[in-house]
Amino acid sequence: MSTEVRDDNPYSRLMALKRMGVVQNYENIRKFTVLIVGVGGIGSVVAEMLTRCGIGKLILYDYDRVELANMNRMFYLPTHEGLAKVEAAKISLININPDVEIETHNENICTIENYEKFNQRILNGSLTGGRVDLVLSCVDNYAARMTINKSCNNLNQLWFESGVSENAMSGHIQQLIPGELACFACAPPLVVANDGDENEIKRDGVCAASLPTTMGIIAGFLSQTVLKFLLQFGEVSPFLGYNAFSDFFPKYPLTPNPDCTDKKCKELQQYYNDHPEERRLKEEKK
Ligand code: ATP
Ligand code: ZN
Repeated sequence: MSTEVRDDNPYSRLMALKRMGVVQNYENIRKFTVLIVGVGGIGSVVAEMLTRCGIGKLILYDYDRVELANMNRMFYLPTHEGLAKVEAAKISLININPDVEIETHNENICTIENYEKFNQRILNGSLTGGRVDLVLSCVDNYAARMTINKSCNNLNQLWFESGVSENAMSGHIQQLIPGELACFACAPPLVVANDGDENEIKRDGVCAASLPTTMGIIAGFLSQTVLKFLLQFGEVSPFLGYNAFSDFFPKYPLTPNPDCTDKKCKELQQYYNDHPEERRLKEEKK
């Protein structure tokens, strides 16, 4: 039997990452603010993981309420039924770790009024009243992704996007650095590129499949990537995919499109071509 004294503080296991040389300054985690749009199947689990890791502050956006139909995913409980997702999330997250500051917005980010406020929260939402450290897209529709894309291009804000396919058998996470990596408008879905109706992408009345497994895996990928990005360890992939049928994990860079329809994306592409020394994207180790 081990005679080692057990330390019941959950942070001691996290601090071991520092002792073992994985992370230089784990305690920095408490200074960071992450803004998450969408606390559904992926976003709620990311919020929980970052809360358990001791993140400083989370800003949560979601316009929806918890339904019993959400129980095939992680995080929410039947007792949360009818509550705004952001409120239900706040209750659970504070219970898990009261040291984390949780700010909630039960809003649609796509309306004109909310969009302006959303931009202000990116710029002023951190623990010190400055810019947040990261924006995460965990939404399930094209319009919301395009809204986040517009904000982040205009504010030159680094963000990560995530998603799971309609048949629940694949998913991805993507890093977006305005001007350096492809933005969401650089490679629009085919129907939009062909001047089709973007609403066709999310088909009304078609019930998408969902699995807690696939969503949990993508949430794990995204949370791990956030930790690596904020605490600066390992490599942060520009794009990481997951195919559940074949256990295939494609990973590749996504270069920006010089003919992107987003003016700000093009401007920033030009800027970082002229100022390569200011680029934030780290070269992958061979
Ligand atoms: P389903 O539609 O499959 O029943 P869902 O709506 O919970 O599930 P998820 O993929 O689990 O979808 O989560 C995506 C989350 O993103 C949802 O909680 C949704 O409310 C939120 N969301 C989508 N668009 C916006 C938006 N414009 N503003 C705020 N939150 C959004
Ligand atoms: Zn672009």
